Amino acid sequence: MKTYTMDKKVFPEFIKLVKSKGKLFGPIKQKNKYSFEEINDSSDLDFDYQRTIIGIKKFLTPPKYKTMIFNKEGTEDVFDGDETNIVIGVHPCDIHSVKILDRLFLANIKDPYYAKKRDNLVIIGHSCLPDDNCLCHSTGTDMVEDGFDLFLTDLGDYYLVWVGSDKGLSLTIAADNLLSEETTEESIRDYVAWQQKRSSMFKKGMPSFKYMADIMNLNYDSDVWEQFGEKCLSCGTCSLVCPTCNCFNVEDIIAMNTEEGFRERQLDSCTLPYYSVVAGDHDFRPNRTARLKLYYTHKLKDYIGRWGQPGCVGCGRCVTYCPVNINVVTVSDALFGEVCETQEVCE
Ligand code: SF4
Ligand code: SF4
Repeated sequence: MKTYTMDKKVFPEFIKLVKSKGKLFGPIKQKNKYSFEEINDSSDLDFDYQRTIIGIKKFLTPPKYKTMIFNKEGTEDVFDGDETNIVIGVHPCDIHSVKILDRLFLANIKDPYYAKKRDNLVIIGHSCLPDDNCLCHSTGTDMVEDGFDLFLTDLGDYYLVWVGSDKGLSLTIAADNLLSEETTEESIRDYVAWQQKRSSMFKKGMPSFKYMADIMNLNYDSDVWEQFGEKCLSCGTCSLVCPTCNCFNVEDIIAMNTEEGFRERQLDSCTLPYYSVVAGDHDFRPNRTARLKLYYTHKLKDYIGRWGQPGCVGCGRCVTYCPVNINVVTVSDALFGEVCETQEVCE
C-alpha cells in the first residue's frame, strides 16, 4: 500500500483541496456527542472522538428517502445519489461496517440505490484511541487494510497517509505539493510506538468472542433471552445506532387526492413491535424476547455462517446508547455465564 507523510501545518490546505472535490463531512462535537456533519474548513473538525451517534451508514442507507414518484400517467425514479460525498475522520470499526454493508447490498443482487451512493462516496479514515466502551480489539476490527480511499494515522506533528484506492490515489496526486513520499526510520518508530500505546488502552473486551456462534447455538433456548426481553423497551435505538443494522421497509404513500404518491424506503428495526407482522396480521415475533433473540442471533451467529465474520464491529454504540444496558457485552457475558452454569464447558 502506498504511503505518504503530511505535516499537520498543511492540513488546512489539504482540507480545502478535498472540499473542492465534493461535499465534505466530518466529526463535529455537539453537546458532548459527535456526529458526521458538513464542514466548511478544517477548524470545524474534531478528531478527538470515539464514536459518532450514527456511523457512516447514514450516507449509504439514510433513515428515509424517496425512490419513486407516481401518478396516473406512470412512475418516475427520483432517487438522488449523484453527488460526491466525502467523509473524513472515519474510524476502522466504521470502515469495517461499510465492508459488511457492501457484501449485503452489492455481492449478490445489487441494490441500485446503495450502489449509486457507494460509488459516489469517498472515505478518508482517521486513527483513534479507544474509550472504555470500544470492543474492536475483541471483534478483530481495530485495524483496517482496505475499504477506505485514504487513511490518516495521527503521529503527533504529522500524519501517515495510507492510500487504499484509485479515488484516494487521485486525491494524493492533486495534493502532491502537500505530501512527502519519504517514510523515515523515525516515522516507522513513531508508528510502532503509537500502535503499542493504543493496544494497551483497550479496557473492555469479549475475550471469548471467537466462540460466539457456538455459544449462540447452545443457548438458543436459554432463560437469558426472557430476562433481557423483560428489560428491553423495544425502542429500536440499538438498531438505529448499530453501523451494520440495515433492515428497511418500503412504503407507498398516496396523496389525499388519491391521484399521485411516492415510494419511500425507511430504516426499520427488528427490535420494534410489528417488525415481523405479515399479511393476515400474523406476528412471527410478538414479544420482545423473540425480537431480541433475532437481533443477536442474526448479528452474532448468522453473519458468521454466511460471511465468515460476525455482524458486530465492536464500535460500542449499543454499549453507550441502550437505555437499559442490553448490549453485545452484557448479552455475551450472560450467555457465557449460562453455559458455564449449565453445561460445564468453561473449565
Ligand atoms: S435492546 Fe436496548 S436499545 Fe435495543 S430496543 Fe431494547 S431497550 Fe432499546
Ligand atoms: S452490536 Fe453494538 S458494538 Fe457491535 S457493531 Fe452493533 S452497535 Fe457496535
